[in-house]
Amino acid sequence: MIFDTILMVDWSGGNDRGASPKKDAIWVCAARQGTTDTPVYLRNRQVAEGWITDFLYAEHTAGRRVLAGFDFAFGYPAGFGQSLTGTDDPFAIWDWFETRVEDAPNANNRFDLAGEINALFPGTGPFWGNGLQRDIPNLPRKGLAREDHGMTEKRAAEQQTKGAFPVWQLSGAGAVGSQVIMGLPMLTRLRRTFGQDLAVWPFEPLTPPIAIVEIWPSLIAKAVTATMPAGQIKDAHQVQLLAQTLSQMPASELAQILDVPPTIEGWILGLGHEAALEKAALGQLAPPPLRNDCFAMPQGAHWTPVGAAQQHLRDKLTCVTATEAVALKDAANRILAQDVLAARSHPPAPNAAVDGYGFTGPAPSGITRLKLVEGRSAAGAPYTGTVPLGHAIRILTGANLPEGVDTVLLQEDVSTNGDEVSFHGPLKQGANARNAGEDMQAGQTILHAGRKVTPADLGTMAAAGVESVHVNEPLCVGILSTGDELREPGDTATDGQIYDANRPMLCALVASWGYDVIDLGRAPDDRIKLRGILDDAATKCDVILSSGGASAGDEDHMSALLEGTGSFALWRIAMKPGRPLALGLWNETPVFGLPGNPVAAMVCTLIFAAPALSVMAGGTWKEPTRYMLPAAFTKSKKEGRREYLRARLENGAVTIFPSEGSGRISGLSWATGLVELDDPAQETAPGDLVAYIPFNSFI
Ligand code: AMP
Ligand code: MG
Repeated sequence: MIFDTILMVDWSGGNDRGASPKKDAIWVCAARQGTTDTPVYLRNRQVAEGWITDFLYAEHTAGRRVLAGFDFAFGYPAGFGQSLTGTDDPFAIWDWFETRVEDAPNANNRFDLAGEINALFPGTGPFWGNGLQRDIPNLPRKGLAREDHGMTEKRAAEQQTKGAFPVWQLSGAGAVGSQVIMGLPMLTRLRRTFGQDLAVWPFEPLTPPIAIVEIWPSLIAKAVTATMPAGQIKDAHQVQLLAQTLSQMPASELAQILDVPPTIEGWILGLGHEAALEKAALGQLAPPPLRNDCFAMPQGAHWTPVGAAQQHLRDKLTCVTATEAVALKDAANRILAQDVLAARSHPPAPNAAVDGYGFTGPAPSGITRLKLVEGRSAAGAPYTGTVPLGHAIRILTGANLPEGVDTVLLQEDVSTNGDEVSFHGPLKQGANARNAGEDMQAGQTILHAGRKVTPADLGTMAAAGVESVHVNEPLCVGILSTGDELREPGDTATDGQIYDANRPMLCALVASWGYDVIDLGRAPDDRIKLRGILDDAATKCDVILSSGGASAGDEDHMSALLEGTGSFALWRIAMKPGRPLALGLWNETPVFGLPGNPVAAMVCTLIFAAPALSVMAGGTWKEPTRYMLPAAFTKSKKEGRREYLRARLENGAVTIFPSEGSGRISGLSWATGLVELDDPAQETAPGDLVAYIPFNSFI
């Protein structure tokens, strides 16, 4: 019973909810193999039924098995069907409703039908909650008005859950009765459409490729709250979280949840397994760890090209950070974990783009005179009256256009005596006016998951009414230097000792990318001490960047330790500067073992670690921007490796640091970026175009 696709549907018993996404409407969300789509808003049942039918058809045609969940009861308390239809077959109730329910976007007969059903029962009830103005025969407004109808108040399923509403209640906050009446006919039609290819749980064995189940998102209410960004529509979030949770659930666990005793009342998926379901839903916050073999790359006798090494990281690395909701003001430099939708249109209403006078356009060529109406429309203080034809109104930039105004005259183009304005036409209709939503429409995706939030994004989201966003927790990067020869700035140093240059440099570089940095200090060339440092660092960091000791020599303890983990890979990359890159997982925490040489450490960090960290932080793989600019140097380069030269711009041309020695760290300060000379052999002469990458274009 393995499902390829999970579809979760939050149904509604109400009327059409309009074009823009709203709560208490129908929301659906699909997930495949643990990857979830963006939730879809469906404004009414007619649109929703079409969407769901098309979706199931498409999945079925593609050969994918679907589990589709609907959040309303599939049955009534035992005995109801017998009284209504003369049989215990739950589908008889479905068919009964399907032939009698009349449903249109803004009107349906559910209350009348409930009254008709009540008339078939003794006493008063069982249905109640007439939500209409007019009285309906046999349908009481209050639940307490019912008596002697002979039906149990709750199904066995509802008796087991706190907070579940009985199917008899048709209106009032939380009521589900209307959803059932307005949902069963749709399910009946799905059964008819898909025939033998569809089965309904728990009434039928789930052998066909489409399974329909009853769900209740409140079973994972805690996880929904914990993961929901404020401002997000709850209905959207809960179908998404549920779809994702079920999609990632191991098949055996899902099979266990689906294994329930026979019943004609229907059952809620996950009932009796609430804790496991909630845990799985909360677990969606934490991403799965990287695989032990994520750095394993076939190594031949040849050196690995830079592009192949990057491609491997790009393919194998995934986000390692959990997600959280933060207020808009705290979102700068954070990476979006979900698409951001506009909460309102921008501008929310048609308004004036300039200070001037509003009227109904267009104006013909020649002189036009318009009488001024009393009052004005200012930003935040709109004019509430109507401006009659042939009149104009004083209007200020950003003010809503009043009724009767669609065009604005620029103040400077107008002469006025206080009673009327005159100006030279022509002027097009709509001139100097902004349309509602011309910038952003409510519900529109304005920023995509994976994006690092810029200051401009904060402005865009604020304008679109977004108050908080779902982001990845900041990636926590540990920086470690290794080597007995290293000293701290301020320490005395003998001839054989050098100051640790890599750590302050890499700490600052990584911090400038917006990550949390943990300074892990220096490790001596001592395997036992290094092991202790790594053990501790792995508990605190999402990823470790270490420099030195990464080759295969006697004192290369980082390589030696990683080798013992079973996840070690020593990449020999065809690149200058750079030596092997040692990669591995230390207690599930990825370690980038960079060369000790400061220039090589810096270049390897920019070329490999920068885009890799972006992916692990929940972002995208980022290629730096390359500018093709004329060279101001001569260089003959061998075939078979890529070279990065310290470079800067002088008079529009790229100059390079006089020495290519990778120990010459001062060249990094001299440079403003790197020149990238690609793998093939090449002769560069002054004036030839070369790829220049400014340092600040890495991430
Ligand atoms: P290793 O990869 O450990 O063999 O180091 C290569 C070269 O880089 C040696 O000359 C080291 O002394 C030097 N080196 C290693 N780590 C650092 C550091 N943190 N700062 C400056 N130089 C370093
Ligand atoms: Mg060393």
